[in-house]
Amino acid sequence: MTLPPAAAERIARLRELLEHHNYRYYVLDAPEVPDAEYDRLFRELQALEAQYPEAASADSPTRRVGGAPQSAFAAVTHARPMLSLNNAFTDDDIAGFDRRVREGLKAESVEYAVELKFDGLAISLRYENRRLVSGATRGDGATGEDVTANLRTVRSIPLILSGQVPAVLEVRGEVLMLKRDFERLNDEQRAHEGKIFANPRNAAAGALRQLDSRITASRKLTFFAYGVGQIEGEGAVGGRHSAQMDWLEQLRFPVNRERRVVTGAEGLLAYYREIGERRADLPFQIDGVVYKVDDLAAQERLGFVSRAPRFAVAHKYPPEEELTVVRDIDVQVGRTGALTPTARLEPVFVGGVTVTNATLHNEDEVRRKDVRIGDTVIVRRAGDVIPEVMGVVIDKRPAGAIEFRMPKQCPVCGSAVIRPEGEAVSRCTGGLYCPAQRKQALLHFASRRAMDIEGLGEKLVDQLVDGHVVRTPADLYRLDVAALAGLERMAEKSAANLIAGIENSKKTTLARFIYALGIRNVGEATAKDLADHFGSLDRLLGANVEALQQVPDVGPVVAESIARFFAEAHNREVIEQLRAAGVHWHEHEGRAVAAPRPLDGRTFVLTGTLPSLARDEAKARIEALGGKVAGSVSAKTHYVVVGADPGSKAEKAAQLGVPMLDENGLLELLKCATAGADT
Ligand code: NAD
Repeated sequence: MTLPPAAAERIARLRELLEHHNYRYYVLDAPEVPDAEYDRLFRELQALEAQYPEAASADSPTRRVGGAPQSAFAAVTHARPMLSLNNAFTDDDIAGFDRRVREGLKAESVEYAVELKFDGLAISLRYENRRLVSGATRGDGATGEDVTANLRTVRSIPLILSGQVPAVLEVRGEVLMLKRDFERLNDEQRAHEGKIFANPRNAAAGALRQLDSRITASRKLTFFAYGVGQIEGEGAVGGRHSAQMDWLEQLRFPVNRERRVVTGAEGLLAYYREIGERRADLPFQIDGVVYKVDDLAAQERLGFVSRAPRFAVAHKYPPEEELTVVRDIDVQVGRTGALTPTARLEPVFVGGVTVTNATLHNEDEVRRKDVRIGDTVIVRRAGDVIPEVMGVVIDKRPAGAIEFRMPKQCPVCGSAVIRPEGEAVSRCTGGLYCPAQRKQALLHFASRRAMDIEGLGEKLVDQLVDGHVVRTPADLYRLDVAALAGLERMAEKSAANLIAGIENSKKTTLARFIYALGIRNVGEATAKDLADHFGSLDRLLGANVEALQQVPDVGPVVAESIARFFAEAHNREVIEQLRAAGVHWHEHEGRAVAAPRPLDGRTFVLTGTLPSLARDEAKARIEALGGKVAGSVSAKTHYVVVGADPGSKAEKAAQLGVPMLDENGLLELLKCATAGADT
């Protein structure tokens, strides 16, 4: 077949592109496109070269391994070349591989050693007289880079071997970075505004190719052996690849335990599926599994074609990273009011599912990755993790790609959006009102330490909100048994109980009420401090940021958060509705701006059951006016409040001549004290 000009042009273009990506990947450790895209270009070139043999060229990327070694390192010539592997993607590819192997060996069935395909970088370790003398990267397969000093820092690589070891032993394997070490490294890099690595493979390559081995040491690399190179002298175990791996393990090389020996294409595919299911749970990334003819003599007979052996193949998993286009960037509001920019994508099949949305985390991430509407991006989905935009292929950016702006108003409820200083996350301030935050707000409002509404749990809140029965906390106080009767699994008795629970919650304390509002950064302790300090809700509502900072432990961030919450008209409305519905507490329960209070310095002791006041309430009311409630009677006690069935405290009071009050007496005293305080 003659070579049509269009094909010739495409071949030239593909070679150019692949050379470019090789350079980015192997030399700079900074790929621009996901492996899936690279593999597609590679296969397209392979197919064209197969179709037009006259276009073949010895320096085509399809004939070459890896990238040229970098001149910063001394060159190491490999005693035996380090090759690549052919890739297989489908069950048919594997059936074809097994068939060719059987034909080549004239065998009925073949045993294969099967292993993980680690997504790291290949290295060769050379031991002479038991000592590690050199360690090199694969480079272009014939010549690699001398990274001995760096490899010495990898803890799992033995420096001296013991036992029966050949005089020269080359061990080959993969250097990689565990997922958790990769996350940690990128976190640190981000904190120092250093280079962010696209994936653990590139991070491992970057760490290994440092000129300062202290940096390599700090980045925690891991090593697994999967083969041998040159061997000279006595003591080697041969025969089978699997036996060689067991031998390396005895020599204390780390050899991954997920290896097996299986028979025929069926055995290969079963292994592929088994590992595929556990892929996401492995502590490191793999991009496939590798099958090798186990019998070493058979391997030799099969030999090599250009850049890869005939006796082995890499069976790749579906990509976890793919390319697609960002159609739009919008914002999702979470249960806590956090606004998350989300990329709406051209549907793409990645990580085993079709993905249409990917998180961009927050505004800073969008800026850092410079993701714009119209961009072609790399999307990653691994295991069950939420799909994520990893980066942009800048070369593919169209003219007029639109930059993202964080909205100033919540897209769900229209309340103001704020981004507190020093925080990465923007938030909606309509906490009590925003539909996105409804369920969370109601659950918090009803929780035991807040309004303590018995019987209002998660399932019920789901039903009430989803059925549009309740929108804000104020709506709870409008519920009646009839409104609840329509809900699923709601018996009349539980409906009545819930209504009673809501009714009981009306009587509360200012501190609980403030806490129940769910203002960001205002926990129970701060709510109590606010109640103590301002003494009344209106005073709190009237406080500006400066006034709020007068409260102990309230700094600028918390003050800002409170002020923003109350500045939102929607929230104020709900608060007014709550008050109108009868939610109440004793104002002045607090020490209004440290003013002296009528019962300051007075000590009370409570004993027995009071006819109408609960003990906690009596205590709260005494304390609100400055009094103290003590546990035992002494000469310093000012009053003992006596209810039904009093204990020994009443006797003691009589002995010491401490004045005793019943409930009416106490209420009278509190009334006088309150009146005195108001005037
Ligand atoms: P490869 O990764 O497909 O396979 C060969 C390599 O597999 C070996 O060199 C070794 O490092 C590794 N390996 C892992 N486990 C192994 C095991 N148990 N036994 C033997 N080898 C094992 O080939 P390659 O030539 O290193 O790289 C090609 C791949 O690199 C492509 O498939 C592509 O995905 C990726 N790549 C990507 C870009 C990009 O821009 N994204 C550029 C170049 C290459």
